Amino acid sequence: ATFQDLGVIESLCDACTKLGYQTPTPIQKESIPLALQGRDIIGLAETGSGKTAAYALPILQALMEKPQSLFGLVMAPTRELADQISKSIEALGSLINVRSCVIVGGMDMVSQAIALGKKPHIVVATPGRLLDHLENTKGFSLRSLKYLVLDEADRLLDLDFGDILDKILKVLPRERRTYLFSATMTSKVESLQRASLSNPLRVSI
Ligand code: AMP
Repeated sequence: ATFQDLGVIESLCDACTKLGYQTPTPIQKESIPLALQGRDIIGLAETGSGKTAAYALPILQALMEKPQSLFGLVMAPTRELADQISKSIEALGSLINVRSCVIVGGMDMVSQAIALGKKPHIVVATPGRLLDHLENTKGFSLRSLKYLVLDEADRLLDLDFGDILDKILKVLPRERRTYLFSATMTSKVESLQRASLSNPLRVSI
């Protein structure tokens, strides 16, 4: 199968080709068609499986159909992972001028507030700092968010971000799609899943 066979639009297929992604990885093959049908997805997959593109391509495709700022939010457990995800999203979205921004701890709040004020399409964040902005950065809200990704959910919960995630989930619109990716399915991940996804399909590789 090709990305086109999975239903991915041409400009995003071209970006994949540019990045050297010739054929979709198993997790991409499984999840992209379901995501494009509008389903919430639980993906059991590890780093290295191609999970970033598995969720990023459907989000970028939906963004193309109805462009708006603060369209997608990706929650990641660490600064390094957030940086890496943001770079992947910008590379996949390079032909459609996608703007993403990274919101992580240990960096200057003011420059992050300015970056958020520039209305990026996608925010990639660690939970603590995102909550800090939601509570303290004037004019910033995620009320119009359409897509949420909980990436490496098991690690997010191991790092004790559970309470913070609950607070963030409370201020996100219910009318959205949610993708949860995790290497392992623990009871904590299952309860996060129940709190954040609606009628999800489970995909594992
Ligand atoms: P991830 O699991 O999302 O961290 O991706 C792992 C690595 O695989 C990254 O370096 C990606 O750029 C790369 N990658 C993702 N999808 C593909 C693909 N379809 N073909 C080749 N490489 C890929």
